[in-house]
Amino acid sequence: MGRLLIIEDHAGLRDLIVRGLARAGIASDVARTAAEASACIATVRYAAIVLDRGLPDGDGVVWLRRLRAERITVPCLILTARDALHDRIDGLEAGADDYLPKPFEMPELVARTRALMRRQASWVGLAAAYGDLTIEPASAMLRCGLASVTLSAAELQLMLALMRAQGAVVRRAALEAAAWGLSEPVTPNALDVALHRVRRKLCALGSRLQIRNTKGIGHALVEPIEDA
Ligand code: CA
Repeated sequence: MGRLLIIEDHAGLRDLIVRGLARAGIASDVARTAAEASACIATVRYAAIVLDRGLPDGDGVVWLRRLRAERITVPCLILTARDALHDRIDGLEAGADDYLPKPFEMPELVARTRALMRRQASWVGLAAAYGDLTIEPASAMLRCGLASVTLSAAELQLMLALMRAQGAVVRRAALEAAAWGLSEPVTPNALDVALHRVRRKLCALGSRLQIRNTKGIGHALVEPIEDA
């Protein structure tokens, strides 16, 4: 079973949820803001999300709508004090899969979270798209028009991270974490070697996109600006 992402700014409630889920054998990462949550999503492939609506940097539902617009379909349960009908409809329309009003009983949160994670387990991976590229995680296939190449496991996670960033720079540490996990050490040049292989594959596909290196910061998948 994969990891869960808990997005909740209230420290007490957050710790309660983390401990309650851990007792049920569910490991989780936490984010206190929408920005932190976005950084987590760009790095780790989560089995499910528990999302608070009232976050310091915005409405959780707005964040979820952005996530769904990027075709990231990780199952999401919205947790909120607002249990009015229109709030519930808001959440479901934004792409939430379940809804639990506060206050709630921990066994109910555990049961609903398990149900969401089971759904994710049967999910084989949704295609991502950026620029002229599409990627199918299930088959590790990167496509550009009619051309396609197969990616290794690390290359697949690198490309997913770069494509989900939609042209924004992804830090080296985040790319390494995406490709090799958060704890596994990698050799200093493993990322450069994998990026070199991915660049060759982009070339072979005839994609207009290039992986641009911002020295000391990270990499971005960009369309080069043509000289006038
Ligand atoms: Ca809150």
